[in-house]
Amino acid sequence: MSELLKTVFYGTMQATGLFDLTRYLNRKNGLILTYHGVLETGTENYVNRNCVSREMFDRQVRWVKEKCNPVSVSDMVQMIRGKKHMPPNAVAITFDDGFRNNYKVAFPVLKKHNVPATIFITTDFIGSKGEKLWTERIDSIIYSATIRRLRLPTENGEDLFDISTPENKIKSSDKIRKYLKSKSREEREQHIVELERQIEGMRAFIDEMDERYDFMDWDEVNQMVESGIIEIGSHTCSHSILSTLSDEQVHSELLNSKMAIEAQLNKPCTLFSYPNGTQNDFKKRDKKILQKLGYETALSQIDGLNKVGEDIYALKRVNIVRSPNFPFFLSKATGIWGKIKRLAN
Ligand SMILES: [Zn+2]
Repeated sequence: MSELLKTVFYGTMQATGLFDLTRYLNRKNGLILTYHGVLETGTENYVNRNCVSREMFDRQVRWVKEKCNPVSVSDMVQMIRGKKHMPPNAVAITFDDGFRNNYKVAFPVLKKHNVPATIFITTDFIGSKGEKLWTERIDSIIYSATIRRLRLPTENGEDLFDISTPENKIKSSDKIRKYLKSKSREEREQHIVELERQIEGMRAFIDEMDERYDFMDWDEVNQMVESGIIEIGSHTCSHSILSTLSDEQVHSELLNSKMAIEAQLNKPCTLFSYPNGTQNDFKKRDKKILQKLGYETALSQIDGLNKVGEDIYALKRVNIVRSPNFPFFLSKATGIWGKIKRLAN
C-alpha cells in the first residue's frame, strides 16, 4: 500500500473511533511491543526499515504513557500468570538485539517519559569492537562505491585497485584487506579514512550503517539498568535460531548468555526472547530447557495480545516498523492490523 493510501486508510479508522473501541474491547489483554532500533533522524533507506525515528518513538511512548498503563515485562509476566492484577490496557515495551541506538536515542526518550522497557541482548555482540569491524568497513566502501578505481598509498608509492565490476570488487577487496592486515591499527585507520574520502557520499552512508548496526557495550547496559527503568533479558549469545540447533547448542546458547548477563549486571537474568521468534523458530524442547535453566518467560514474535493464562514461554508481541504514519502504529498496537492480516491470509 502506498504511503498516501495508508494515511487515508488508517486515518479513517482513527476518525471513526475504531481504534478506541478495539482498545476498550481488548483492555484486559496485555500488549507487548517489539522495537529493534530508534534512530536520531534516519532516512527511509532499506537498512532502516526495522527502526523508527526518534520523533515517532517519542510520540508512541507518549501514547503508551497517556492512553495505556506502561508496565515492565517482569510485571506483565506476573499479571499473565494471574499473580498480580493486570491494569486495563497494560503495555510493555521491548527491544531485541542490543543496538547502541537503544542506549543513545531510545533510552533518553524512555527516561523523559519515565516509561519502563526491556532490552533483549545478544551477548556475544555486546562490546564487540573487534578486528572484524574494519574489514566490514572495507567491504562496504568497495561494494557501495560507484567510482571505477581506488587509490591506496603503499611502499612503492601508490597502488590502483580496479573496482569497476563485481569480480574486480571482490579481488580488490581481498588485496586491500590483506595489505591492511600488515599495518598497525593507527596506520590502518588512516588508510581506511583515505579510502572513504575517495568515495563521494560514502561517509554519510557509513555513519548511517554505524548508527543502525553498532552494538552497545556493557558499561552502557549497566548505566541503563542503574536508572531503574530498563530490564535486560537474553536473546541468546550468537542470535542463532533455536529450532535449527542441537540440544547441546540450545543449552549452551541459553546458559552462557544468562551467565554473561548475570556476571556483568550482578543480578538474575530470567527473561528471554527468541531470535526471529516465529512459530517455526522454537520448539517444545526449547521451552523445557528455558524453564530448567531458570528463565521465567520467553517472548516470541507471533503477532497478538496476551490473555491471562497465556503460555508464558511463547508470549505474543506486536512488531513496530518504520512508518511516518501514526494511525498505522495505532492499528498495530490495537491488534487491528494483525486481524486484517490474518483475515487476508
Ligand atoms: Zn533479534
